[in-house]
Amino acid sequence: MGPSVIDFLATERRLGTYNYEPIGVVLSRGEGVWVWDTEGNRYLDCLSAYSAVSQGHCHPKILAAMVEQAHRLTLTSRAFHNDQLAPFYEEIAALTGSHKVLPMNSGAEAVESAIKSVRKWGYEVKGVPDGQAEIIVCANNFHGRTLGIVGFSTDPETRKHFGPFAPGFKVIPFGDAAALEEAITRNTVAFLVEPIQGEAGVIIPPSGYFTKGRELCTANNVMLVLDEIQTGLGRTGKLLAEQHEGIEADVTLLGKALSGGFYPVSAVLSNNDVLGTLRPGQHGSTFGGNPLACAVARAALRVLVEEGMIENAARQGARFLDGLKDIRANTIREVRGRGLMLAVELHPEAGRARRYCEALQAKGILAKDTHEHTIRIAPPLVITSDQVDWALERFATTLTQDFS
Ligand SMILES: *Cc1c(COP(=O)(O)O)cnc(C)c1O
Repeated sequence: MGPSVIDFLATERRLGTYNYEPIGVVLSRGEGVWVWDTEGNRYLDCLSAYSAVSQGHCHPKILAAMVEQAHRLTLTSRAFHNDQLAPFYEEIAALTGSHKVLPMNSGAEAVESAIKSVRKWGYEVKGVPDGQAEIIVCANNFHGRTLGIVGFSTDPETRKHFGPFAPGFKVIPFGDAAALEEAITRNTVAFLVEPIQGEAGVIIPPSGYFTKGRELCTANNVMLVLDEIQTGLGRTGKLLAEQHEGIEADVTLLGKALSGGFYPVSAVLSNNDVLGTLRPGQHGSTFGGNPLACAVARAALRVLVEEGMIENAARQGARFLDGLKDIRANTIREVRGRGLMLAVELHPEAGRARRYCEALQAKGILAKDTHEHTIRIAPPLVITSDQVDWALERFATTLTQDFS
């Protein structure tokens, strides 16, 4: 007998930093939409590691690409070229219609890299006086956990006692184009925003918001930076969430699913101007663009397209959303989503969402609460109709329970 669930949890609590509060399940295996715990119980994964496992757990083709590359060459640093970087650039640029690519590792690093790049662009191309660049961001944003990023978060929990923070950010309400128009000055270099606010609880802005935002950015020579780290790569039923609005960002940030769930890979994609300002010695990363990461990302993108996962996300997302909307339960305040990025917001009187997630776990579904009263639902994009229906039955019985 190996260690019990209690042993794992106790050791984590004793030696680990208590910066997460996971659901009490210890996972040891995954395949497609399913994961298994150490006791052999099977669960449908309705979180997908916050969208990083969109292609499904341990996808065999991504695994094969990773193993094959791991046998050949894993890390060179950018001091030398490697034979995976150029094909990765070519494939991701062709797929997304981008002109330049900057490979990084985590999502937060991609965001930081974009901030540095648009500031540099502001000074060297737009002509903003040195040290005056302003970046507009939205209330309730989530762009990662580095100091630069938490400095412009509006969630007190993420900021408290981590200051002092870097200046140069202006916060406006999300979904309010008039507020954006008002906030733009001659020194504004960028508007950094999520197409749908994921961590805030899957908040979808009013339609037309991004069309107007795009117009305002173009008219004022401001770079529209879309953080598609969570919404990108098929999650919302399109390759990029911007396609729902028929617009194009100047800078697009990808991460999470670019990893295929295997190995952290992120990327800044842009037009020529923004990333074109970076010169040798001005930015970099030891692991960014390494051959193993590139091989994994290439396979992750390939299976996403070849196996029709984006279309499947649109189809199954609609089925899931309709099914959730059909559940008659007075615990539910609102159901919302686009593609397979879904959320059920509970009435505050219904009790904490966490209780419902624990009840779902007992029924074989892993989902995660966010902001007290919201259950987020984001299964791998390979989910089938039968699996959606299976999940819906369990959501229905759980949501009609009362944990208040
Ligand atoms: C997850 C996420 C990030 C940060 O990515 P990490 O890999 O955790 O650093 C940034 N932006 C958005 C929208 C995210 O969902």
